[in-house]
Amino acid sequence: MLSFLKKIIRQLLFPQQCLGCQKENQILCPECLKSIRQLSWQVCPLCEKSVTKNGEICRSCRQQTNVSLDRLLVVADYKDKLLATAIHYLKYKFVKKLAAPLSQIMIEKLRKSSLPIPDLIIPVPLHPYRLRWRGFNQSELLAQEIASQLLPSLEIPLVKNLVNKKRYTTPQRKIKKYRQRQENVRHSFQINKDFDWQQINRSSQKNLNNLHVLLVDDVSTTGATLFTLAREVKKLQPKSISAIVLGRQH
Ligand SMILES: [Zn+2]
Ligand SMILES: [Zn+2]
Repeated sequence: MLSFLKKIIRQLLFPQQCLGCQKENQILCPECLKSIRQLSWQVCPLCEKSVTKNGEICRSCRQQTNVSLDRLLVVADYKDKLLATAIHYLKYKFVKKLAAPLSQIMIEKLRKSSLPIPDLIIPVPLHPYRLRWRGFNQSELLAQEIASQLLPSLEIPLVKNLVNKKRYTTPQRKIKKYRQRQENVRHSFQINKDFDWQQINRSSQKNLNNLHVLLVDDVSTTGATLFTLAREVKKLQPKSISAIVLGRQH
């Protein structure tokens, strides 16, 4: 009886069954991971109408607005139940090991795309308050895997503290109106003045000249968070700013 109870408790605390097929010993088995509905085309992240090769901002949006983000690559369809469940378990049930399989589909997508090879990877920062609550930054876990595995022989620098989240914002998914979402994240990121530029071998030149930057987040809603972060990163004059997310949640 006691061991039965122990098993139940352990499974509640540390689910060891695949979220898709309940097979033992893997949180998301390769077959179920493969079954997640990937997007077969990409759209402009602003209007979400024009089809663009790698999720580039379309020409008409570019003419109307001044955006710093060059493109947003979306891996899969957030309406896919398994994907939504896996992201929920990662973020709200704190199942950190889901970052490994989930990052695999991001890496595959990046390899199939024609994105510039990133020179550095920046996970979307969390406010310290939220970081304390969750105990980890889910975007950082995904970014870490991408940084170490995207290129077979080279680790891409993962830069965690170049930009700080300075203002605590309400989670975007809790805000319904687009304008309010934009307002919510405005000015919420700031370049860290104490950043150690040695980290990316730039001790004399404190900018990102000639470097391709990749921003990583788990999900994007309106894209407002990524656009705002890109605007701040753009101040350091990188060659390009791309972003990747697992899905878009509307
Ligand atoms: Zn499975
Ligand atoms: Zn557009």
